[in-house]
Amino acid sequence: MKDIKLSVGHLYPKHLNLYGDMGNIITLKKRCEWRGIEFDYDEIGIGDSIKEHDFYFIGGGQDKQQQEVASELFKNKSFLADERDRGSVFLGICGGYQLFGHYYQPFDGERLEGISLLDAYTVAGKKRFIGNVTVETDFLNPSTLVGFENHSGLTYLQGDTKPLGKNIVGNGNNGVDGFEGGRYMNVFGTYLHGSLLPKNPHFADYLIKLALEKRYGHDFVFENLDDKLELCAHNSLVGKGY
Ligand code: GLN
Repeated sequence: MKDIKLSVGHLYPKHLNLYGDMGNIITLKKRCEWRGIEFDYDEIGIGDSIKEHDFYFIGGGQDKQQQEVASELFKNKSFLADERDRGSVFLGICGGYQLFGHYYQPFDGERLEGISLLDAYTVAGKKRFIGNVTVETDFLNPSTLVGFENHSGLTYLQGDTKPLGKNIVGNGNNGVDGFEGGRYMNVFGTYLHGSLLPKNPHFADYLIKLALEKRYGHDFVFENLDDKLELCAHNSLVGKGY
């Protein structure tokens, strides 16, 4: 795909990059390069200004790293909300997902203000959810997403923010309502580490297409890649016990 570019802003990877979340960036990069799409990567650190991108990624982290990042993200709240409204794609994993909401209240310590890209909030519970997760979506083919969760935060969605799908295995957002993740416009949050995208190539392509449609203003039809290995990994985890 000549002269097609995807620009990706990676938010605070030195602080939020738990359980190999960098694997999501590597997957986006390779799946673009295998199709001849230029992958323009921008690592954004504490104190850096944030430029416009087609796609923003933020990983997960312990409460302490979230505290270090939250105030920095908050300084860019209105710019990032404008980017959301311009149709940029956002993918936040776990701790990053929590900061996409209105706030994250850790078990101990100050409440962390989020950037309200999603109409959601998170409160730490007493129990830590750790284990495999399978989610049934209504927008992907195959319809499932697989990964693993490790969080004590309980996330509650409101308003027009909808879940990514129903838990088949695992606790997801809060272990009560039976849903995992959140989406509003092209902002996606999920508790699925793994890392997520290498084992869910169909979701990676879905997100890349959304970001390219935002940049170029028209749909893209992708040629299929040889995803035998990726889908073998995916299928081996579908329904895997917690
Ligand atoms: N610190 C948050 C929690 O425990 C997020 C953890 C994570 O990113 N895996 O819920």
